[in-house]
Parts: sequence; C-alpha cells; structure tokens
Amino acid sequence: MRLFEPKMETMNRNEIENLQNKKLRHVVTRAYRNVKMYHDKFEKIRLSEIRGAENLEKIPFTTKNDLKSHSLLERLAVPEMELVRYSSAETTERPMVFASTPQDLEIQSICCAKSFSCATISKEDKVLQIFPSGLFPIWVPQLGLQKLGAKIIHTLPGRTKELQIAILLGKFEKDMKPTAATALASYLLRIAEMSKEEEIDPREFGLKKLIYSSGAEMLSERKKRILEETYNAFAYDALGLIEVAGGPSIAAECEEKNGLHAWENYYIVEVIDPKTKERLGHGEEGELVITSLENVAHPIIRYRTGNITKILDGEKCGCGRTNVKIGRIIGRTDEILNVKGILLHPKDVEETLLAIPGVGTEYRVIIREIGGLDDMLIITEMKKSFRGEINSFDQSIATSLLAKEITHTFKGTFNITPKVEIVPYGTMKRGKVKRFVDLRKPPT
Ligand SMILES: [Zn+2]
Repeated sequence: MRLFEPKMETMNRNEIENLQNKKLRHVVTRAYRNVKMYHDKFEKIRLSEIRGAENLEKIPFTTKNDLKSHSLLERLAVPEMELVRYSSAETTERPMVFASTPQDLEIQSICCAKSFSCATISKEDKVLQIFPSGLFPIWVPQLGLQKLGAKIIHTLPGRTKELQIAILLGKFEKDMKPTAATALASYLLRIAEMSKEEEIDPREFGLKKLIYSSGAEMLSERKKRILEETYNAFAYDALGLIEVAGGPSIAAECEEKNGLHAWENYYIVEVIDPKTKERLGHGEEGELVITSLENVAHPIIRYRTGNITKILDGEKCGCGRTNVKIGRIIGRTDEILNVKGILLHPKDVEETLLAIPGVGTEYRVIIREIGGLDDMLIITEMKKSFRGEINSFDQSIATSLLAKEITHTFKGTFNITPKVEIVPYGTMKRGKVKRFVDLRKPPT
C-alpha cells in the first residue's frame, strides 16, 4: 500500500476541516470576484458569513442548467490567455466545454495519481486504458498514471478482437501484456463476452486490476462481482466528473473494497436530500454535491451532481487513510422510477434481475402508461449457457420459463407485475446505453 500524498491522506478530522475551511473562504471570495456566473449567484449572500464548511448551507447550489446557461467565459475565473486546454464530454445533448490552466492540469493529475494509487496501481503496472480520444480529457488520467510511473497502453474502444483482445493476450508484444485495465465497466464486460465467443477464457489475460467508474454508468454489486469473477481480478471504482475535474480525480476505492476515499484537501463532498435540499447525515442516501477547493479556471461550488450515494461512517480505514469515504454511485436522481407509487432504485432492479438464473447481463427496463396506469416492461437477453443448462427443453419453453420466473420474482420483491420480453443472447446493444427508460416523462 502506497499513499501518494501521505500527509494529506492521513490528517486527523480537525486538520482536514481547518484546511477545508481556509480554502473554502478563499474559493468563495475568488469565485464572487472573478466569475460572472458566481458574481450573479452570490449577490444575495453575505460572503463574510462563510467562515467554513459548517456555513456551506448559506451558499446556493450550482446546477447543470447554471453551467449550460453560461458561456465558457462567464464561467471562467482567469483571463482567457491563461488557458492551455479545452475539454468536453461530447454527449449528444448540448455539449459543455471546460478549460484548464497548467495549474489545473497539475492538480488533476495529482488527484488521478491518488485515485490510481488508492486502487493499488504502481510503477509495476502496465495499464490498458480504453477510452475515446478527441475532446474527452483522456490526458488527465494519463498524467496521473505517469506520476506513478505506471506504463500506459491507450487504445480507443472498438476493434475489440483485433486490438483489445490481441493486446491482452500479449500478441502485439509479449512484454506489453497489461496487468490492469481501465474502461467503462460495460466495455470490460463486452471484451470478456467477445473473448468467450473466441473460446478464450478472460482469466487467461492475467489482468489483476480493473478500474471503472460507477459515476459513468451504474454498476450493481452483483454485476461488479460478475466482472471480477469473469477476469479473476479485483475491480476498483474511481470517481470523476467532467464538470468538476477530468479523469477519476474525486474519489477512489482502496484495497479494503468498502467505499471510495474522497480527496478532501481538494474537494468537499456533501450528500443532500434532492427534494428538500437539506444536508443528510452519514449513512443516509441522497444526491452527491461537490465543491472544488482548488479549481483555477472553473471554480465550482456546491455542484449538484445528480448522482446518488451516501457518506460512510468516518472511522479510520484499514488502508490507513483518514479521508472520508462515499459509497459507490447507485444511480441518478433522474433515474429513480416511481411505478404505481413504488420508488425503485435502478441498482435494486439490476440486483434482483441479474440474480435470476438464466438472465444475461444486458437488459432494459421501460416504464410507460397504458390505459392511465403505470406499466413496466423488462426486455432482457437470455444467458448464452441457459439453454444448455436446461437442454431437455426447447427454446420457447426456456423463454417462457425465464419470463415467468422474472414476473414472479418482481411481484415478490417489489409488488409489481412486469411484462417480460426475452430476446436471444447477443442481440441487445452493448456499451453505455440507457437501461432505464421512463416514457411517461417528456424527453430531456
Ligand atoms: Zn481505505
């Protein structure tokens, strides 16, 4: 176990809070003076009353809409001349662009080094990094890995068999065989699936560590176990958010595998009730709110991430770190489904569905209104091996048995009777897809 910033990662609670309070006062004043968006927002508050984190509730939240309704320059705290890089998540909705100064890149690379180091990456590791290039700030985690002395093998998603699987098998170069991989969890599962189609057991790759982000796409505990068992490797969750900082800068899981340490000398994390907007205590699930204490180009204060998690109890972790831990992201506030008055978390639906023998890892849950009533439709693939397990039945019997089992389980667990459609293995789109669709809501 190696701590990248030993002093900052082992400070006692008083020291952490004193440091945060001092930085917060500076950040709020700087944002008010230099950022048009915050100047307008903070007009109604008394800055002198913000003496530390205990006064955070006096500060208004920042939302995605705030960011979208202000231009890049209106969100900047530095003259444009000081910028050196632009980045964007390149989503299909109106993309937001962020910019960095050299100091931002240095801080974010330190944060990423901390996260990778927390997830046990060291200079012994060769890390296969599979992410798109272009405006997506792939350079931030790369700078972090470089700081650790880890070796980076960067490829773009796609050409899975010719590229990713060949590299993992050491076919490109036997001395470049990765020991770790970082990608979307769904893509790691896709690689495993394609390997099996080629009759290659993913355990043959010899990967020891997989790093993914539950902030990029929700991954239930069950699916995480499937990932670990498939590769016979440890999977570590590392959290980043482009609106706050590039790469997995904010928090990461340690070898204790029980929550993600948030880097408290750079960020303040809060969890709020998304409805009442009140701060919640440790252990209570709500929306994650983040304040950056060091961003130079784009200060971001009390940003409502839309991610649902909780702050875990603050006892010293077995890894030696004292920085507070948050739970993995279990969904988004806009993904909680209200079906016939029953609130369903996507992670509970996924846990329940994937626990049913025969259900594959790809599925969609569609909520719609039929005749004025809420209706749930589950479309799921059948596991490839399922027909083999019950080979005395034909395909239609296997399909009907599986559909009945899903209906029965959902009725027992959630008191909801869904309609179920079973589709053949391999026919649903893979990757980062919307698995929960609420057709009752107007599209956003
Ligand atoms: Zn720990």
